[in-house]
Amino acid sequence: MNKYQEAFMLMGKKTLTHCPGYMITGNRCSCNEQSECGYKQAVDTLQELVEKATPKKPSFDKSWEDEETTDIYNEDGSINEIICLCPNCHKHSIYDSEYGVRFDYCHECGQALDWSDGDSKEWISFTFDEDGMLNCPLPDEEEEILVSDGKDVWIDTLMEDNGYYLDSGREFRGLAWMQLPKPHVKED
Ligand SMILES: [Zn+2]
Ligand SMILES: [Zn+2]
Repeated sequence: MNKYQEAFMLMGKKTLTHCPGYMITGNRCSCNEQSECGYKQAVDTLQELVEKATPKKPSFDKSWEDEETTDIYNEDGSINEIICLCPNCHKHSIYDSEYGVRFDYCHECGQALDWSDGDSKEWISFTFDEDGMLNCPLPDEEEEILVSDGKDVWIDTLMEDNGYYLDSGREFRGLAWMQLPKPHVKED
């Protein structure tokens, strides 16, 4: 987590406790969508800001999709900027193709961008904050990942339904995950 996420975890989540409709269960307030809950709006606005300041990988411009092109990576694991979109506003304003410059922030919406090539090859431990919430980097939901308990390695999937769980049913404690390697490309 970066410092913005840490500050938000510490302060942002507590903001809702000021709402008269606050419920301890689920750390939320009972205000419905129509009634104006200033606290809920404030939390959502801050969260939006935190997410913009947290570098995200560019999204794949699906109009380029064909048999050989299915994501933003070239065969060697480097990023092909031309087929990238801002992960927040989905515009092309993250790369200057004339000068070959990758922008650190989207020129349209200000989203911070993560241009690191390839995928992480490190094990990431599942860790928790004091409220028992997962606070480590997580894979996308329903993305197949490698999971290890320090002895065995298996393919698993992160699912969400009122909280995260592993498709295998294993408890997170003591486990670590990493992204699957890219499939072998057959040579003709
Ligand atoms: Zn409220
Ligand atoms: Zn943008």
